[in-house]
Amino acid sequence: MTPRRWLKMANPGLADLLTRCAGHDKWVTDLDQLQELEKFKDDDDVIRRLIAVKRQNKQRLARQLEKIEGITVNPDAVFDIQIKRLHEYKRQFLNALLILDQYFKLKETPDSDFPPVVYLFGAKAAPGYFRAKSIIKFINEVARLVNHDPDIKGRIQVHFIANYNVSWAEKLFPAADVSEQISTVGMEASGTGNMKFMMNGALTIGTCDGANVEIAETVGDENCYVFGCKVEHFQDTQNYYNPKWQYEHVEGLKRCVDTLIDGTLSDGGTGMFQDLYNGLLYGSSWQPADPFYVLGDFDDYRHTRQLLLADYNDEMAWARRCWINIVRSGRFSSDRTIQEYAADIWQIESLAPMV
Ligand SMILES: *Cc1c(COP(=O)(O)O)cnc(C)c1O
Repeated sequence: MTPRRWLKMANPGLADLLTRCAGHDKWVTDLDQLQELEKFKDDDDVIRRLIAVKRQNKQRLARQLEKIEGITVNPDAVFDIQIKRLHEYKRQFLNALLILDQYFKLKETPDSDFPPVVYLFGAKAAPGYFRAKSIIKFINEVARLVNHDPDIKGRIQVHFIANYNVSWAEKLFPAADVSEQISTVGMEASGTGNMKFMMNGALTIGTCDGANVEIAETVGDENCYVFGCKVEHFQDTQNYYNPKWQYEHVEGLKRCVDTLIDGTLSDGGTGMFQDLYNGLLYGSSWQPADPFYVLGDFDDYRHTRQLLLADYNDEMAWARRCWINIVRSGRFSSDRTIQEYAADIWQIESLAPMV
């Protein structure tokens, strides 16, 4: 992705901080220059400024959400964001099921010391993609349940943003603490949203899929959260995978899945939720049950999300890891990609150096 739109334009506060640390803005056309700034991870002043920039971006997003969507979110909460086209393989459904699990747990154990979280979704579904629309309906119903429960006291908020587009994206990436990149392994060619989040100082929770693999390689396992079935095991898994077993045996999973059919959530009589339920547990003549391994990855995702939320409580340590993500994002600039294409594939030379 291009650092002009996704850092300089979208996140002027962070762009300023980087330029001031470097003493110049050469990173704008040569993102690898950010690497030189890694040493500032131990400079508490710089890290505190990074925290202040993130906080301002969260307030800016909160104002936008208030104005356009009519909702109030807590800017001191963790902003956990999944924004991308709505597709079964991208597994917004898995994220929503895990939010339900966290909701039920919080009702049982109100004194748990996890930070408050705002879960934001943004996505469009292709016009004829019925199941994608069912998932949007499901997320909206989860939001209705969680947001209006007085027991929760705003410690979990959920919102699905209508009409996700680049203008929303420019507000959302800079405000994110957590980047959700949870596609079924082997299904995402690369992704670019994952890169935009990284460059804007969010930590990734994701599967070993697409460019998440390169991101994890670049920042190290200690600066991101990787979970889920690995691609080399996935084929084997499919030979014996039985989502009904997960449904019966993974602690807490049944109660989340059952909200689709037990009256906890309503699809307004459309049959959408029964269809989602059947898709997970029974499949159909043209598809096996749970082909996107939602129930298979649930437990590892939950465990990893718990670690992440516990880590967030150490504000400075968290922000230092965000800084490492930012300054190592150089290889994900489209300038690098296009230079490689020009040299290796098109075999052309540039007319003039980029200024
Ligand atoms: C970056 C971007 C995408 C692509 O997101 P992925 O997570 O890579 O699928 C889609 N829509 C908008 C508006 C974007 O800015």
